[in-house]
Amino acid sequence: MNIKFFDVHSHVNFSYFDEDREAVMTRMKEAGVATITVGVDSASSKQAVTLAEQYDNIWVSIGLHPMDNQKESFDPQDYADLVQHPKVVAIGECGLDYFRIKGDTEKEKKRQEQNFIKQIEFAIEYDKPLMLHCRPSRGTLDAYEDVLSILNSYFKIHASKLRGNVHFFVGSVAVARLFLDIGFTLSFPGVITFASDYDKVVASAPIDMILSETDAPFAAPVPYRGKRNEPLYVKEVVRRIAQLRKEPYENVREQLVSNALRVFNIPSDVA
Ligand SMILES: [Zn+2]
Repeated sequence: MNIKFFDVHSHVNFSYFDEDREAVMTRMKEAGVATITVGVDSASSKQAVTLAEQYDNIWVSIGLHPMDNQKESFDPQDYADLVQHPKVVAIGECGLDYFRIKGDTEKEKKRQEQNFIKQIEFAIEYDKPLMLHCRPSRGTLDAYEDVLSILNSYFKIHASKLRGNVHFFVGSVAVARLFLDIGFTLSFPGVITFASDYDKVVASAPIDMILSETDAPFAAPVPYRGKRNEPLYVKEVVRRIAQLRKEPYENVREQLVSNALRVFNIPSDVA
């Protein structure tokens, strides 16, 4: 396989792709795009693994999203077989999402925290990186602060095993620094092609600590805004990262692929 682009976070396992998944995969293959497709509960994690068995440019992250399935709690038993699969390279997406909380805020935060902690411990046990989802309430950085405080408490005991990537990073330069300090990478989606809020973070983070993603089917980049997103469009994200950093496109493209292989421990002979 000749990987030219790595979309480290997509949901090609979701039903949004049921009609034309084969065509989406063909477009990816032709352009040399690989992806990590991400589960948000036990069913979608299983679907992601099934998909990865069919396509050699797909890897998988398994776990429970903080918000997407509120009926489910993270039960390590549900994931114990899946995590042994050679294509499973991360745990998540997990974390804290305060953006959409309604009703009893404290109770909901507690519920999310418990699921998050179980997944941190699961990731440490199986020596996998975390795929973090972290979304603060409007106008604040609250969820980042809480995620960092939880991670830091684990970092003190398990510094060698605790690792991961902050998906869809929308924090400040200062918050970015705190994640980088504990070795976590940051991945940027299509949002950076139309919002300037993250320009400084993209430009100032060390090049070996950033990753490209789409979060497809959501958040399509320019010039596809408003359409369903797909991993192929990660090209636009890579182009924008190079532009913001004022670095040669080819160097950035290659570096982002090698970062993804390193962070998710994907052997480069496979890639
Ligand atoms: Zn996602």
